[in-house]
Amino acid sequence: MSIKYKNYPVKIDGSGVLSEIWSYGFGSTDATMNYESAVVAVLDQLTSRSGGIGQKILAALPSDKTIVIVPYDGDGGACNAWADDATILERGQARVCFSPATWKVGGVCLPSGDAGIGKGSDEILLHEFLHAYRKVRGSYNRAHFLVAPDKLYDDIEELWSILLTNIYMSEKGATKFRRDHHGFAELPAKWATSDSFMRDPDFFKYIELFWIRESGLLTNIATSSIAAFNPFKAYKALTDAQSAAQAAAWN
Ligand SMILES: [Zn+2]
Repeated sequence: MSIKYKNYPVKIDGSGVLSEIWSYGFGSTDATMNYESAVVAVLDQLTSRSGGIGQKILAALPSDKTIVIVPYDGDGGACNAWADDATILERGQARVCFSPATWKVGGVCLPSGDAGIGKGSDEILLHEFLHAYRKVRGSYNRAHFLVAPDKLYDDIEELWSILLTNIYMSEKGATKFRRDHHGFAELPAKWATSDSFMRDPDFFKYIELFWIRESGLLTNIATSSIAAFNPFKAYKALTDAQSAAQAAAWN
């Protein structure tokens, strides 16, 4: 059993909730339905802002692919979530393992509201969803990216997910952002503005790469997101100014 989320190519399948395995023949159990409605609530939160990043990302998913959200299986410790290629059983192209109960305030991973940055259940789901987005788009690229001491991203897909989730958090009014992939520390002040982040040579290189590969979505985010922290907006302003200067020089 699974449910589809609105008109998006997204399905939620709670049948992997452990207790469900024993009663599968009797239809959906409370555990399954509770899981599915809990994920719907988090997706509703992600997409609640009209024209916000959550809506833009879901709207940019290829309509002939499916992202399946299934319960987190504990693989990777109690506090985690992950995205992967879907199995043939789910008939999708990407799978997100995520359980809202793990990440809600007061749950095992979030004992209080301020234990780390980017750990809200909507932020964790968006992070994994952004990995799945790249998989169904065919642009997923785990090129190594780790520069000690404070760019511990592991690979550029983590930069992608963390950067876009930071922009989402900025839309919600946040002024503190997640630093990198090793924990949930705060992004240092030297990079906490759109311009300073974009102008760092390491980040610039990958912002440019993402811009080329995801130009539709990122142009949309650069031109119409209300986020104050929006390095893609800064990137577009810079390249627009460069193009204008080049055109003027040719005249
Ligand atoms: Zn990740």
